[in-house]
Amino acid sequence: MRILVTGGAGFIGSHLVERHLDRGDEVSIIDDLSTGSIDNIRHIKKNPGFTYHIDTVTNERLTAELIDESDLVYHLAAAVGVRLIVESPVKTIETNVRATELVLSLAAKKRKRVLITSTSEVYGKRTEVPFREDDDLVMGPPSKGRWSYACSKAIDEFMAIAYWKEKLVPTVVARLFNTVGPRQTGRYGMVLPTLVQQALDGREMTVYGDGSQRRCFTHVSDAVGALMKLAEQPAAVGEVYNIGSDQEVSILELAKRIKQLSGSDSPIGFVPYSQAYEEGFEDMMRRVPDLSKIKSLIGYSPRVDLDGVIASVIEHRRSRSISSQVPATPPVAAARPEARAYSGANT
Ligand code: UDP
Repeated sequence: MRILVTGGAGFIGSHLVERHLDRGDEVSIIDDLSTGSIDNIRHIKKNPGFTYHIDTVTNERLTAELIDESDLVYHLAAAVGVRLIVESPVKTIETNVRATELVLSLAAKKRKRVLITSTSEVYGKRTEVPFREDDDLVMGPPSKGRWSYACSKAIDEFMAIAYWKEKLVPTVVARLFNTVGPRQTGRYGMVLPTLVQQALDGREMTVYGDGSQRRCFTHVSDAVGALMKLAEQPAAVGEVYNIGSDQEVSILELAKRIKQLSGSDSPIGFVPYSQAYEEGFEDMMRRVPDLSKIKSLIGYSPRVDLDGVIASVIEHRRSRSISSQVPATPPVAAARPEARAYSGANT
């Protein structure tokens, strides 16, 4: 198959590219390196089946050509992180909405298959877990910047489904929950690479709030396997699927486990949300996917458990010594109090 991955130099994109190349597919990527990195694809640059374009998806001529040459498009390129949303809100919302609209409209010309990645963030402030794909989305007000990320991704989902219903473009939407693993940067504050790097450096591990908030972490290999199966399934067309793990852990428990598995002496420190993010910041206390829909379609079951996930990140960071990616202070508070980041295309 000929595959196009937008955002292919990103954390998840680069793993997806690798898996398709291993399978013998031809893969092209387009990435503007805004949050992705050439380091993520350096090892595959010489693969004869691989072509890369460092450019923006909104370069219509290039994207049109790449889509035309592809059998399947994975659209992962997106502005991720509320830091970007707060600093460049117009650019961020436009990137998420415009790029998706362009990809879908170009794919519509020859009805190419498109998988759009979305995020568990679209569930917003919902408190009843687990989250099912047909649950109502509970958004906060437009005055709080973080919700524009959820809303822009929700618009992407509406568009994907509309293109299927109205123009018969075979689309599928994947809502990724906290996806982690090698190559994820801590630069935007994502908790797992941040805590691992702090533990490896012997610095204080920054747990926000009292650490009782809970998350479910999915290894990128499980997430990518699910994306590939969803993209191939005719029955997935026009549908939304959660991809994640339903093994919950509190952030404090996570910090303790990281400390233990890395053999670190780092102290665990508690940082108030007001200092880490902004006054009145609302964190989601729990975010658990209901996985029954994806299980019944593709038999999805995450293989890597929490310890495996943590171990893979420790090993990767030890082997690469990338401490410069994690700031010593709570990541964004120092620069701008209300800024924070998400796993975005990653969660
Ligand atoms: N978090 C933390 N310390 C950090 C970074 C994040 O305690 O250094 C917390 C954060 O407040 C949230 C959880 O970890 O409750 C997951 O944060 P992340 O940004 O990784 O993902 P998301 O909030 O999108 O689930």
